[in-house]
Amino acid sequence: MIHRVISLKYRPQTFDDLTGQKHIILSLKGALRTGRIGHAFLFAGPRGVGKTTTARILAKSLNCVEGPTVEPCQQCQSCKEITLSRSIDVVEIDGASNRGIEEIRNLREGVKYSPLQGRYKVYIIDEVHMLTQEAFNALLKTLEEPPPKVVFVFATTNPTKIPGTILSRCQRFVFKRLTAKEIVSRLRKIADAEAIHISNKALFYLAARADGSIRDGESILEQLTSFVEGEITEQDIFNLVGFLDSSFYFALIQQVAEKNLGEVFATLNNGIENGADPMEVYRGLTAYLRAALLLHAQVPIDMIELDEDEITVLKKMPFDEPRIVSMLETCLEYEEMIKRSVNARVALELLLSQLILPGDEHRVYKDKPKSNPGTHNTVREAGGIKEELFRRLQKNGPKLAGIIHRADIRQEGNAVLITVDNEFSQKQLQRSIGRFRTTLKDITGQDVTVTVRLVEQNQKDDKFIETMKGLFDAEEIR
Ligand SMILES: [Zn+2]
Repeated sequence: MIHRVISLKYRPQTFDDLTGQKHIILSLKGALRTGRIGHAFLFAGPRGVGKTTTARILAKSLNCVEGPTVEPCQQCQSCKEITLSRSIDVVEIDGASNRGIEEIRNLREGVKYSPLQGRYKVYIIDEVHMLTQEAFNALLKTLEEPPPKVVFVFATTNPTKIPGTILSRCQRFVFKRLTAKEIVSRLRKIADAEAIHISNKALFYLAARADGSIRDGESILEQLTSFVEGEITEQDIFNLVGFLDSSFYFALIQQVAEKNLGEVFATLNNGIENGADPMEVYRGLTAYLRAALLLHAQVPIDMIELDEDEITVLKKMPFDEPRIVSMLETCLEYEEMIKRSVNARVALELLLSQLILPGDEHRVYKDKPKSNPGTHNTVREAGGIKEELFRRLQKNGPKLAGIIHRADIRQEGNAVLITVDNEFSQKQLQRSIGRFRTTLKDITGQDVTVTVRLVEQNQKDDKFIETMKGLFDAEEIR
């Protein structure tokens, strides 16, 4: 496979080859120069940012005939074997597939023997947080009395899942997400060396889609080379990963500014039909709003990873700073909802509606229940609705009645939210949503909107209800 070929071929072999992570390289080099090598290193950070690659370079630096050195010779037997992943003294364990105590027992046996050729025996455990508690306990025994000349490198995307007893015995290094610029510079080197024709602008789109991961960036580039002949364009990238370009986001933001909900939905629909997923639209939207904010704050242009055309357009956006800040706040409030909702698209549509709703009208609505308390049902009163709904359903819809019995039902204003604990119930209820609306209108004497949700989305309920209120009442006020 082409992917394997390129990523292996260009895997960095020295600290200076690594992309980004300058702070880590500096302190590792420092440790190698002074010879103060710890027994255990923890490399924490997102996937695809160079953790295991750095671990291998560290192993090479320790075991080179000229080592410990910050510049392994690449020529000696040890260097060559580590490059080819064939060194007996460097053991890589995938924590995700070797979670058990057996593997760690083997490891504990193994560390008793001195390294065969090199100076150090290096154990690299990837995704170490996946180990079982028993495996951690066994590992801890080794770390408590570390054999000489054994170095552990634990790589993890989730350090919070590692027991404190292990963490406290490690020298910790936090790897950062790579910036789009860092990814572009790395991919540019590969593209030039492989004679792949791709413009910097296209590389930038690609890098933005890689979301901080060099591995993802390389993988996208390699996939592109397998089906594009000649120059790789932005359109090719879009076709492969459905990445929406800036014009999509600028149209969306412009329409939000103009409060044109119809056009906003049409633009969104277009993007989604072109293969973008709601979370991606969310990320792009937030990224451009953030860039707009940075422009307003007049931070140096090179901190904003946009090209000149984009900066020109963003500068003209009809928002002032407070409005952008409040829009970003609203975006962040919706992040979890869009991420977790079974209907992410609806959540995204709600967010966009919320961005359009003017703050004043929203406030008018919030005051309304006080002036007209009759329409404002409390949670306790919603309990009454539940009983009544259950009673009515029991007669001719016992299955639905059963689901309602277990569900949590809340009403606020004219929005009724039914929360269930499983997808099957959710589907059943959604199928009968028209019937609920009619029945609830009968019970409450008002038109209501009915929303059925899964229990883990509860945390966002209040926000959701508020949005529903805003959405429907804003129309009434107009
Ligand atoms: Zn060497």
